[in-house]
Amino acid sequence: MQDSTQILNEQFIDNLWVPSKSKTRRPVLDPYREAHIAEVTGGAPADVDAAVAAARRALPAWQATPEPRRGEYLEAIAAGLETRHQALAELSSRNNGKPLAESYQDLDDAIACYRYYAEAAVALGERQGTVEETGQPDLEARHYWEPVGVVGLITPWNFPLVSSAWKLAPALAAGCTVVFKPSEVTPLPERMLTEIVTEAGLPPGVFNLLQGDGEGIGAPMSHHPGIDKLSFTGSNPVGEAVMRAAAQGVRPVSLELGGKSPILVTDDADLTLARDLVIAGICYNAGQMCSATSRLLVHERLADDLYAAIDAAMAALRLGDPLAAETDMGPLVSTTQRERVRDYVALAEEEGLGSETPALALPEHGFFVPPRLYREVPTTSRLWQEEIFGPVLCARRVADDDEAIALANDSDFGLAATVVAGDPDRAEAIARRLEAGNVWCNSDQIAPPQGSWGGMKRSGIGRELGEAGLDAYLELKRITRPLRA
Ligand code: NAD
Repeated sequence: MQDSTQILNEQFIDNLWVPSKSKTRRPVLDPYREAHIAEVTGGAPADVDAAVAAARRALPAWQATPEPRRGEYLEAIAAGLETRHQALAELSSRNNGKPLAESYQDLDDAIACYRYYAEAAVALGERQGTVEETGQPDLEARHYWEPVGVVGLITPWNFPLVSSAWKLAPALAAGCTVVFKPSEVTPLPERMLTEIVTEAGLPPGVFNLLQGDGEGIGAPMSHHPGIDKLSFTGSNPVGEAVMRAAAQGVRPVSLELGGKSPILVTDDADLTLARDLVIAGICYNAGQMCSATSRLLVHERLADDLYAAIDAAMAALRLGDPLAAETDMGPLVSTTQRERVRDYVALAEEEGLGSETPALALPEHGFFVPPRLYREVPTTSRLWQEEIFGPVLCARRVADDDEAIALANDSDFGLAATVVAGDPDRAEAIARRLEAGNVWCNSDQIAPPQGSWGGMKRSGIGRELGEAGLDAYLELKRITRPLRA
């Protein structure tokens, strides 16, 4: 492979690529070709120290940069992503294994996010100094929104460029300087993003990229007293570790964690729509989505027909090269991820769970796991309760909406849900009773930048996107003073 020797041994600090202090390196894979396409440094605590120092130096000037100017930088990043559209999408598909169409979708979402926060920065400038009631005849108060400070941003591998956009764009708009650690599994797209950020001309130290793993970079970042806030997207065990580390110094955290989201299908639902939303909810990105709707609750009247339709649709999926236009589903991102999903499939066999999904012929290479539907999975099964993060769907038939809602809410997680119903008002009434941060009624899982993203219960703390996503990087200050003459 042309770039098989690419070594990512440097950190981007103060607008310069400097060698990592780490001696460890990790392979970076193309999960379809099962080929090493690069090596990335494991990173070292000294790298974190250097990046945090740069971000702290840059903070006063960046904080003082007028909000509209900060917005111009974000617009320049969006334009840079557009310029490298094809290269970035192909890199994302090669490193992550997702079909090219999905990478283009990710990229469009990321661009829209930078543009949204470019405008939000302007609006932030306009609301600075808003006058507020004091309840006193001789006093007035004004509100100002100030950046939290230096923020540490940590992202997973399943939506490169998107997870980072949801953090970087509002953090920079708010006036924070950032130390950003992408996943060591998919460092390549964010490496190219760094070139784009450089071209956008951000002052030194405002954006610092640290490549590496949890031990070399993630944990030292979480514990670093020079980081004022941590925003983390990833698994629950690591999210809890980040939160524990942040407790030292009472530093705030935003956490976007796991899910085991339900999809509810009522007795008046359109069967074809239900099938399509079920398939998209569990097969998009090969099921490696925090918001995957991996628990199907279907009314008993439709259950057999829907199960048969899902099995047929899964059997018709074209698994293959993520870069080929005809591919519907790519491989999982890594052997670790494939083994994890295979373990659940083995457990399903041990538990005697029923699946009639026809066996799909797999491509000759690649970390593939064929999609599967398990019918009438007991709620006590680990397959029903735990996040699998692969194309494995568990289903149960229900007698009515109340039973569906009770089962849907019987989960430690509360990230997302889908409701498919003939009557949209009935769907919304069900949605109101679900414990989830996002509920889609008869709709694909859209997440526009003006929306909101985040989970209830163990799915996380806080919200990304929209105004809440900007507020996550701001501190509100109230100044009270005698009325102006
Ligand atoms: P992960 O928790 O293993 O890793 C996430 C990031 O944390 C990576 O950059 C990793 O290097 C880093 N990390 C690892 N150990 C660390 C430590 N001790 N301290 C600090 N950082 C550390 O998760 P993953 O396997 O990359 O991603 C899959 C998980 O992410 C799933 O659980 C999924 O549900 C979740 N996720 C959630 C959302 C959401 O919006 N809620 C979105 C995407 C993914």
